Amino acid sequence: MNCELCGKEIKHYHEVIIDGATMKVCDECAKYGKEVRQPSSFQIPRITKAVVQSPVSNPIVHTPMKKRTPRELIDDDEPVLDFGKIIKKRREELGMSQEELAVKLQEKKNLLAKIEREEIKPDKATAKKIEKILGIKIMEKIQ
Ligand SMILES: [Zn+2]
Repeated sequence: MNCELCGKEIKHYHEVIIDGATMKVCDECAKYGKEVRQPSSFQIPRITKAVVQSPVSNPIVHTPMKKRTPRELIDDDEPVLDFGKIIKKRREELGMSQEELAVKLQEKKNLLAKIEREEIKPDKATAKKIEKILGIKIMEKIQ
């Protein structure tokens, strides 16, 4: 069909009211009239047009996700600041030698001595064993 206003060939028309008369016109001529809402001919091209004309903007740029740090996700523990002193004090209270405690921990005495001097931090498994054997708390939650 052709636009009733300019005569251009059109696939989908706009039905508009121009000077009180209803006319089937092209996209260009539709601007000159008041569009009559009809759910038939022009709805499909309108939807297609909308998709083409507004490409999806990058959601990462416009709505950045709040990224949680791994520390928040992992329920982690850290030895308290003076873990060595606490271990040594408690061990001596229990009348236990470094060697005895090391045996119970299934660790080398040398390693235990280093932990008590706070030269090295016990790993999580060792720290848990120390806590259990001595009945103390040397690990704290990382906030
Ligand atoms: Zn036209």
